Amino acid sequence: MKRVLTTALSLMLISAPTAFAQEQTTLSANGERESVAGVVPDNFTGTVTVTPLFAASDLSNAGGGLVEFAPGARTVWHIHPAGQTLIITSGLGWVQEEGGERIHVKAGDVVQFPPNVRHWHGASATNSMAHIAITPTAGGTNVEWLEPVTDADYLN
Ligand code: MN
Repeated sequence: MKRVLTTALSLMLISAPTAFAQEQTTLSANGERESVAGVVPDNFTGTVTVTPLFAASDLSNAGGGLVEFAPGARTVWHIHPAGQTLIITSGLGWVQEEGGERIHVKAGDVVQFPPNVRHWHGASATNSMAHIAITPTAGGTNVEWLEPVTDADYLN
């Protein structure tokens, strides 16, 4: 780990941008950020665990989080004013934008939603899924939660 940090610091020094308020390499260790249950029913349906990874800051206007969905669990319909990138880290999941086909995703897949495209994401009906969500902020927010995804829509 020390070697990794040293290398990262060296890269920073070589290419040091001057606009960053954050001037030191930081480590946010696993265990310093508590996992919490996803908020049901406002944000999610089913059993979801959210572990924050990093908050929006001077370094990046995007925050990141690990979201773990039990089989059948999913977000409610929602939009992101500045879009969102999902990196699937395990399991099998489904994502869908309104009016589009339901897309099957697995570990290593990367999904990008444009700004203000109504969509949902979650596990498949039979398997869990986890993704890292990277979500930029616009106008002081990064998400607008809407109504739940009905079973009929989820299984469609
Ligand atoms: Mn989303």
